[in-house]
Amino acid sequence: MKCIATGIDNPDSNLGCYAMTPSDYSDFSGFFDKVIRDYHGDISGKKQHVTSWEVKGVYDVQKIGLENLSMRVRVGRNLIGTKLPGMMSQKDRIDFEKKMLPMFDKLISSYGGKVVSLSPNLGIDTPNPNLIDEDQYLSLVKDHIMFKDMTADPYLKSAGISNHWPYGRGCWYSDDKSKIIWFGEEDQLRIMCMDVGTDLIAAFNMLKELLTVMESMEDIKFAKDDNYGYVTSCPSNLGTAMRASVHIKCPLLTAEGSVDKVKIICSKLGLSVRGVGGEHTPIGKDGTVDLSPSSRLFVTEAQVIESLYNGIEELTSIEKKVFSFIHNVVEENEDKNTEERDDTNNVNYVLINDSSKNQSDEASEQRDNITLLKEKARMKKFSKRTLSQKALPDIKERLSISSQSPSELKISPSPILTIKNE
Ligand code: ADP
Ligand code: MG
Repeated sequence: MKCIATGIDNPDSNLGCYAMTPSDYSDFSGFFDKVIRDYHGDISGKKQHVTSWEVKGVYDVQKIGLENLSMRVRVGRNLIGTKLPGMMSQKDRIDFEKKMLPMFDKLISSYGGKVVSLSPNLGIDTPNPNLIDEDQYLSLVKDHIMFKDMTADPYLKSAGISNHWPYGRGCWYSDDKSKIIWFGEEDQLRIMCMDVGTDLIAAFNMLKELLTVMESMEDIKFAKDDNYGYVTSCPSNLGTAMRASVHIKCPLLTAEGSVDKVKIICSKLGLSVRGVGGEHTPIGKDGTVDLSPSSRLFVTEAQVIESLYNGIEELTSIEKKVFSFIHNVVEENEDKNTEERDDTNNVNYVLINDSSKNQSDEASEQRDNITLLKEKARMKKFSKRTLSQKALPDIKERLSISSQSPSELKISPSPILTIKNE
């Protein structure tokens, strides 16, 4: 009942369940195995997770014409023989924090930095030397170092994962802030590396090294399952427990101030889209989104990075095509705009499937949106609404038409392009 409480309370929840101890996945395998294999797409029902950090290719986004991106690679980890955060008492949480302090001291001796904690105390009459105040906490959240207030998340709340907030919650971060370890969030530990650069492997390798250092510590034994790899509270994170993300600008696909189009395209590419402050936060005003491969289980760590690179490449090429599409339309309308005037100031191009013509054609109905977008941009068969003369200078300014690089486009959130999802 505790495992499924979050799904009962929140019918919109993706999976609707969390494990409360590492052994729940085997103790309640009649339930969890079905959920896990369904969510992670294992039709055979027999797959076993394999761990591998062996990267083969070169994953430098310079190759696709991109400049520095903010990157983050994290894994969730929990220690064997302990309760997962949904079951932990306040004392368990404080004890876990205290248990981690000597490990953090070792990391500080190698990488510098410090531990910050939200625990009001570490037990009766035991003050917390690492306690930070509200302003310090909020500034660390803003800098993507600390996690958000968990009590605001109804899914975690129903599962008991955010109980006793803010006891046992905090993080260690290195001097250069490139290495961060959260304690007391959705998993006992979230271990991550951040980097600003073009080579996706840099943060990945940094994390691999940090994990090796941690695993060499006597008291650190990460819980692993024979079938599902690293154990995490949420079945969606099992396996690699890795989320590798970049912050990337998609100014055109998000031009309406909505992330819906990027989400439609990304779901076909096996990518998840989040806001710039992480899950359940809005996208950036400049169209920046957080992009990460959705798969974590039955894929290797190396494949996660490969999928991220391939996804960035594909999305960048679509964004470029939308740029040329809009560019051409604006040019065309510039020639005609003395004849066709419309005072509605309605700048709204609709890129639609000609489904009325092809309804009997099953193959055509199944064409995915990306193919459709590519085809339509190439053939320029789009239905146009009129572009008012008044709006033209505005749209040109927003698109910075002189710029050839979509990443440099400046655009305000206003309806420009509608892609119908069919
Ligand atoms: P997760 O669930 O993977 O731990 P969240 O979505 O909760 O991650 O985000 C946690 C924090 O990490 C947020 O502050 C978010 O903005 C930050 N973050 C995620 N990806 C990146 C990135 N590529 N660059 C900078 N910050 C990032
Ligand atoms: Mg999260």
